[in-house]
Amino acid sequence: MHDYVASLVSEVKAKNPGEPEFHQAVAEVMESLALVLGRRPEYRRAKILERLVEPERVILFRVPWQDDRGEVHVNRGFRVEMCSAIGPYKGGLRFHRSVNLGILKFLAFEQIFKNSLTTLPMGGGKGGSDFDPKGKSDDEVMRFCQSFMCELYRHIGPNTDVPAGDIGVGGREIGYLFGQYKRLRNEFTGVLTGKGLHWGGSLIRPEATGYGCVYFAQEMLATRGQTLEGKTCLVSGSGNVAQYTVEKLLDLGARPVTLSDSDGFIHDEAGLDRDKLAFVMELKNVRRGRIQEYAERYGTATYVPNDPGPAQGLGHNPLWDRQADCAFPSATQNEINGRDAANLLRNGVFLVSEGANMPSDIDAVNRYLDAGILYGPGKAANAGGVATSGLEMAQNSMRYRWTREEVDGKLQQIMKEIHRACLETAEAYGVPGNYVHGANIAGFLKVAEAMMDQGLV
Ligand code: NDP
Repeated sequence: MHDYVASLVSEVKAKNPGEPEFHQAVAEVMESLALVLGRRPEYRRAKILERLVEPERVILFRVPWQDDRGEVHVNRGFRVEMCSAIGPYKGGLRFHRSVNLGILKFLAFEQIFKNSLTTLPMGGGKGGSDFDPKGKSDDEVMRFCQSFMCELYRHIGPNTDVPAGDIGVGGREIGYLFGQYKRLRNEFTGVLTGKGLHWGGSLIRPEATGYGCVYFAQEMLATRGQTLEGKTCLVSGSGNVAQYTVEKLLDLGARPVTLSDSDGFIHDEAGLDRDKLAFVMELKNVRRGRIQEYAERYGTATYVPNDPGPAQGLGHNPLWDRQADCAFPSATQNEINGRDAANLLRNGVFLVSEGANMPSDIDAVNRYLDAGILYGPGKAANAGGVATSGLEMAQNSMRYRWTREEVDGKLQQIMKEIHRACLETAEAYGVPGNYVHGANIAGFLKVAEAMMDQGLV
């Protein structure tokens, strides 16, 4: 790696101790940007990279709330406003017990480049809380969301910062958050995306990340004259992204065979179908149950619980050790390590399209690249979600609503554009076919130019 970039990564590590996910995300992007600096020395003089790794603003706050028995709980709330060079901060809110500042900084950092790739005017941000919605009643979730918004509302707005959902934040949570924002501000604006269809939401927004990830896979396959028809696909997670990934895979004649949650995974030899997917949607979105129930319901499936040991004692996740053609990791960061990647390759997987953010660790990514498989990194492959959030913002500003077909058409077009930008940029920088460098550099260039234009801010 370019010496300058290597020393910058070391500085980021020293200055942000205890934030391994942030270090990982920065190191990966910087390796790509080393390819740019030789051609654009002005970026170094303007310290564009040093500015990009420092959030414009971090908001950290107390979120007190009461459970149904009247017991008081205190969680921590965050919003990381990373970069507003090309538009208002935009990025999801994550509610999960693992949430901490380092994870949100990694997500906000990735979001800068992803949002830029969508071609829409959105800056990068991310937020959330270490609140765990699992096992909580609707009333408890509502009280938590209201308390969270009592502080967050001061910092967001339709032209400032527009949060959306992420892990643990779906339609229910966005509804409670929006209701409280409206009450506090006395205004009805597009301050959050992922809203309900009857109060400003966009058609296709719930589907967008999963659908977009599959559209990206289609584009990658087309470069080798292939389609998804008949392909066996491993999918992880069973939340928003995983569900709509499976739906689109079924539309295109593929055969999804796995799903997971944080307790374990199911493998259905017969493949998922629409009835089974409807069962999963009801299980996860309405009853809020565990994926294990799938195997209890369908005899063609087996359930494998996670190893209870630290970091999943086995040192790898057996979900990725199954015969397949394609993999769609759609749960969480670092769910595929080097050993998992080796298993995927050994089992015949030749395409990985990432629905989750940074699901493959650096060792895994290097193995995909060495093997020359089709690898779509999250910031390109899952950008359909935020792109459609951008389309929701546009509709809110116009006080207008596009049809399902219109939004889906725009989403498909955006995914094609992102794919093209990645490939063309990779080619232009001497790394043809490398979607990692292509995505990082294409996303970066637009942001860097905007920063140069706007002076030292
Ligand atoms: P959901 O909360 O709807 O679903 C998350 C799924 O992943 C659940 O099945 C969950 O299991 C599982 N999961 C979460 N954390 C872990 C963990 N630590 N270990 C194992 N499994 C875990 O979230 P989404 O589907 O929205 O998000 C999934 C991924 O996609 C995330 O990486 C997110 O950042 C990314 N993403 C989401 C976008 C969106 O529009 N929603 C946009 C772009 C990226 P359990 O139910 O047990 O918690």
